[in-house]
Amino acid sequence: MLNAENWYEIIEHKNYLFVIREKLEEVDPRFLTIYTNMYLILGSQKALLIDTGCGLFPLKPIIDKLVENRELLVFNTHSHFDHRGANEEFDSIYIHESEAKNASMPFDISILKDSPKDVVNIYNDKNSFKYPPPKEVKSLKEGDKFDLGGIAVEVIHTPGHSIGSISLLTNKGELFTGDTAHYGSMYLPKRKQFPIILNSILKLKDLFDANKVQEIYPSHERYPVGRELLDDLYSGISNIEKIWDTKQKDRFLHAWILEDSNFKYVI
Ligand SMILES: [Zn+2]
Repeated sequence: MLNAENWYEIIEHKNYLFVIREKLEEVDPRFLTIYTNMYLILGSQKALLIDTGCGLFPLKPIIDKLVENRELLVFNTHSHFDHRGANEEFDSIYIHESEAKNASMPFDISILKDSPKDVVNIYNDKNSFKYPPPKEVKSLKEGDKFDLGGIAVEVIHTPGHSIGSISLLTNKGELFTGDTAHYGSMYLPKRKQFPIILNSILKLKDLFDANKVQEIYPSHERYPVGRELLDDLYSGISNIEKIWDTKQKDRFLHAWILEDSNFKYVI
């Protein structure tokens, strides 16, 4: 039985950086992902919440406690269901301009209806398997900067996993990569679009070369991780044709699954 108590794991990772984790595996194991990581950055004036999870249980009360009297900004790294679920609880959310329209509409999550887990009643009570849209959607674009008070955050457009996927770089060297780069099951675009995601990974590698990044905080699985994530992923995607013959069909995801020593690839 899924339980609202202790659903979210709250970790004070640094005095200004909280990790809020939920188990995507407990929502639906068929997505081949264990954890979703949300992040809360606390500046002296403003706070920034990165993603809102699956929306299974109320998120805002937990965030409000940590944010105290700061102004809260809420970003979605992209508009997939596991990053936007609790959007409706907040006054406004920011998302890349190319996904703003998508994020402004109700979102069908009936794919979760036959989850082997006990989510059916919880979602059905709440919203009949549709995420209502947030009250207001604001657009982000490449290079936008936000001063939280003592901490600045810059938007980096890293398309590939989705057209409007963003990464976020702080002036303290933290890089939040969303679903553009994480260990575990990487959801990739079609092969002809691989140059798009490879280019985004290169863009992030360049930030390491410019000494702007110390640590990576992905939206799924392990955190923080180092530059090796980007190197492993770049070479894994570049060499996918070498393992292409090992692909398996996943009927639920309607995708091919391939595996190397670092990642599962969902294509
Ligand atoms: Zn995701």
